[in-house]
Amino acid sequence: MDYGLTELQREMVALSRELAVKKIKPVREKYDESEEFPWDIVEELRKADLFGVYLPEEYGGMGGGLFELGLISEQLSRTCGGIALCLMTSSLCSMPILVFGSPEQRQRFLPDIASGKKLGAFCITEPGSGSDASSLKATAVADGDHFILNGVKNFCSSGKASETYVVFFSTNPKRGARGITAFIVEKGTPGFTFGKKEKKMGIRANSTHELVFSDCRVPKANILFKEGMGLLVAQNTFDFARPGVGAQAIGIAQGALDETLAYTRVRKQFDVPVASFQAIGHMLAECATQIEAARALFFTTVRAMDAELLPAVKKAIAENITVYEAMKALNCRRWSKESAMVKVFSSDVAMKVTTDCVQMCGGIGYMRDFPVEKYMRDAKITQIYEGTNQLQREEIARMLVKEAASSEREAAGS
Ligand SMILES: Cc1cc2nc3c(=O)[nH]c(=O)nc-3n(C[C@H](O)[C@H](O)[C@H](O)COP(=O)(O)OP(=O)(O)OC[C@H]3O[C@@H](n4cnc5c(N)ncnc54)[C@H](O)[C@@H]3O)c2cc1C
Repeated sequence: MDYGLTELQREMVALSRELAVKKIKPVREKYDESEEFPWDIVEELRKADLFGVYLPEEYGGMGGGLFELGLISEQLSRTCGGIALCLMTSSLCSMPILVFGSPEQRQRFLPDIASGKKLGAFCITEPGSGSDASSLKATAVADGDHFILNGVKNFCSSGKASETYVVFFSTNPKRGARGITAFIVEKGTPGFTFGKKEKKMGIRANSTHELVFSDCRVPKANILFKEGMGLLVAQNTFDFARPGVGAQAIGIAQGALDETLAYTRVRKQFDVPVASFQAIGHMLAECATQIEAARALFFTTVRAMDAELLPAVKKAIAENITVYEAMKALNCRRWSKESAMVKVFSSDVAMKVTTDCVQMCGGIGYMRDFPVEKYMRDAKITQIYEGTNQLQREEIARMLVKEAASSEREAAGS
């Protein structure tokens, strides 16, 4: 399908595809087995200048948006969803800094993330607080010009490998959701250490770590946006980031289909390629159709989001204000419903397609020295992280009811 990409966007796709095939494909099985962090590939991604495609040129990025980030995430995930995540977690860290950071914070933290010199991570999850993020227990207590951080975060993607972390603490437990504050915490800050490294089903090239804060002092200047506004920061970040999970899911599904198509065209039974059986052909057709539908939803949604985000970024830089303030001034809307739709649809497609691909390949599809089962394991996480698909459906339904009620009110008033 021709989505009308610009020449630069086509070049980005070609570059990330080439890197995925030449550099990632030969080592993806090794990293899946060893669960080591793929530093050599991170170096290749740095050299290709892919870490900052979505960040403004003023901070060393390429000036693209969510669309460009999605393009490269899809191509990298098409070869390995775990290695792709090493780049994507940096975007999950830099997005709240871009949107909610002060001009000084943008200048201080974004250039190193854009160049890939430093990796970034984002952590709100705790052992007792997952879907219900507002129930988090980690605390930040004011002490002069500093805050003292205490508590444990878990399941942090690119944990330990990153240098810059956006982390959420309660600065006022009595206020519940309104007492949560986002902080930027740098690796090496005394009192900030790493706990358990998780052993996972999929995306095993990316490290998933526990973060431990024990009387960790951070300056007040590291508060992202405003005290007590952390949940707003997190929710808006997820609005911008969830389509990226969609792009990862689309890439995983496409990669599984590529391998399956190649195999079923040469695998013969009853003297003919198995792809020529109608039962297999229809499954291939269904997989390809579902992937294209997910891609079309992704592209349409992120283009619309970028059309609002990018002018706000320009305005914020020109006027020395936060992007969030610029978005308010430009009457930008929230994209919670649409970004949840992209995530739910694409991740469900990825799970269905990769499961069907294992089926179409038969016994070899189940073996670990054949790449298709890895795609199925990698696909599963896209239905879970950045808010489970159950939670996304709750959000979509809530927005539908709200929109219907507001249309009714408008009709009654007119
Ligand atoms: C590999 C991996 C990487 C991760 N990376 C990060 C990261 O980098 N940063 C970060 O902050 N977090 C990260 N997470 C955490 C992830 O976002 C959470 O696991 C996820 O949000 C679900 O939370 P939970 O695991 O506590 O499940 P729970 O909240 O305990 O949910 C359990 C089940 O109940 C369902 N459920 C819960 N509430 C409702 C409801 N209201 N309605 C319907 N169903 C409901 C859920 O859908 C789920 O099926 C990661 C997780 C994994 C596994």
